[in-house]
Amino acid sequence: MPTDKATSMKIVIFGPPGSGKGTYASLLKKRLDIPHISTGELVREEIQNKTELGIEIRKYSDAGKLVPDEVITKILKKRLTPILSKGFILEGYPRSIEQARQLEKIANVDVVINLIVPDRVIVDRLSSRVQCRNCGAIYNEQTLKPKITGKCDKCGAELFKRADDQPDVILERLKIYKANSTPVLDYYKKRKLLKEITNDDPNVSPEIIAERILKLVQI
Ligand SMILES: [Zn+2]
Repeated sequence: MPTDKATSMKIVIFGPPGSGKGTYASLLKKRLDIPHISTGELVREEIQNKTELGIEIRKYSDAGKLVPDEVITKILKKRLTPILSKGFILEGYPRSIEQARQLEKIANVDVVINLIVPDRVIVDRLSSRVQCRNCGAIYNEQTLKPKITGKCDKCGAELFKRADDQPDVILERLKIYKANSTPVLDYYKKRKLLKEITNDDPNVSPEIIAERILKLVQI
């Protein structure tokens, strides 16, 4: 049973695409026994369940438009409000200062973790990434191998490499991520909520990084 004092904490985790933040968040979820909320997943669930908000999102994506901030915020509010006393690890939000302000209205964040990973480490990792064609589960040929090569552990379907996991495409995504996240991270730095962790060694296991993050949130 996790007895860590971080239980019921409200944690936001930031990290560039390919930094492994989703993996760390799910490891922390287990250690701290608090829900892991990924806005990307929430949006997919709303669409799948054809909720009112899900139908609204479909309208934007079918028209090739970005889903507006306020729609994402509505979904987040709906999902976070019932679990506020339990705490959460939030991933994929906020992506702008405006969203950070909206989040403040929903919950008092205790700590914001920023994962710093050098570009070369991310390029190495993403170019060895494989994904399940069926359920979308992500593996890595070096660090997170499936039990059977080329097959998904969860559903047995075939694994493939995404076209956007090419080095030049990855570097472009990292540039965009930095431009968007820097003002939000500064916002949290000013509020003294920001804690940073650097992972420049691709051979360190996700469990060890998760332990380091755990120590950071418990300080
Ligand atoms: Zn699968």
